[in-house]
Amino acid sequence: MNKEVLSSADLIRLEEDCGAHNYHPLDVVINRAQGVWVWDVEGNKYLDFLAAYSAVNQGHCHPRIIAALKEQADKVTLTSRAFRNDQLGPLCQEITRLSGYSRFLPMNSGAEAVETALKAARKWGHKVKGIADDRGEIIAFTGNFHGRTTTIVSFSTDEQYRDGFGPFTPGFRVLPYGDIDAVAGAINDETIAILVEPIQGESGIVSPAAGFLRQLREITAARRVLLMTDEIQSGLGRTGKLFCFEHEDIRPDVVIIGKALGGGCMPISGILADDEVMGVFHPGDHGSTFGGNPLACAVARVAMQVIVDEGLIENSATLGEYFLQRLREISSPHIKEIRGKGLWIGVELHPSAGGARRFCEALKKEGMLCKETHTHTIRFAPPLVITRDEIDWAMERLAKVLQMP
Ligand SMILES: *Cc1c(COP(=O)(O)O)cnc(C)c1O
Repeated sequence: MNKEVLSSADLIRLEEDCGAHNYHPLDVVINRAQGVWVWDVEGNKYLDFLAAYSAVNQGHCHPRIIAALKEQADKVTLTSRAFRNDQLGPLCQEITRLSGYSRFLPMNSGAEAVETALKAARKWGHKVKGIADDRGEIIAFTGNFHGRTTTIVSFSTDEQYRDGFGPFTPGFRVLPYGDIDAVAGAINDETIAILVEPIQGESGIVSPAAGFLRQLREITAARRVLLMTDEIQSGLGRTGKLFCFEHEDIRPDVVIIGKALGGGCMPISGILADDEVMGVFHPGDHGSTFGGNPLACAVARVAMQVIVDEGLIENSATLGEYFLQRLREISSPHIKEIRGKGLWIGVELHPSAGGARRFCEALKKEGMLCKETHTHTIRFAPPLVITRDEIDWAMERLAKVLQMP
């Protein structure tokens, strides 16, 4: 059975027959990857323009990250937090030094880190701000994506993400993304926190008006409300800064990270905060069996070093500018809007283009893997190790595909 060579078609059939149908992937079956390139079972080569939704910012199978993974795997992989391990402390030190926050709390998936932020905020609201135990509200925004747990989909505005999953968690209010007046009108003495993506990735690389984050920071500081930014996709270099909020020179109270923290090979996420917020957690209040495991911590330490040592933040800024400029030179009747920051770029097509999916299928035939988001937008988010030549290579194919009738 192990010797049998299965084709892409065979493998797709197995997945369709025996797996849950909660995704609709492009039909490419990848079995090898290096840097920005991936290969399918038949040996066809593609440039990865999604980078696992920014979880592979450092490029696939980065040699330093894989070396750290293997080295740690031979030593110890899991202790649980019942005991200590020799990787968690150094990770906490390195990540707090890099970010400028005083404490880090590790989890595994992004959604768990968002849940952790929500729990920290609620506990802060009740224990520090003095809001009554069964009261208090957290503000989120239309078009948000913060994960898939029942609490998180409670404040999603995407009907599909909620459909059939109620009853929902109370205590959230959803306001129009970018509308500072709505925020000013909604904040009251029982407002605990605001949860915001600096740029909405899943929504189609949507930026609020310039100044929105700064205004949020001012209003939350004045009203003693926590500002929590979800940097799971926008952080760790994706937009040409370590964190996307740096574009507006602000400092949130809680920063949520995940995805690229695991260097494309281990799930690890977490929240960064100072003592006033992180101090609400006492032993037993919150936790995770795999959270802070030595394998993920060892990988995360090197994953962060790679981002810094290899200038990936600068590369994202420089080549993101270049990519945007080259994209704007393409003339295509289908393009409605081009937007983005760093190597995180969305091309929204006119409804008359017939949806972004068929363009993603055509790009796949040309050797580029992209994923549509919200029907009409093609998202480009390559690993941050991409070179100018590789962008030029992609641009030729893109120009061709965007000329399709
Ligand atoms: C991916 C993502 C999440 C959820 O992360 P998971 O690891 O899939 O649970 C949350 N917020 C944002 C902004 C994301 O992009």
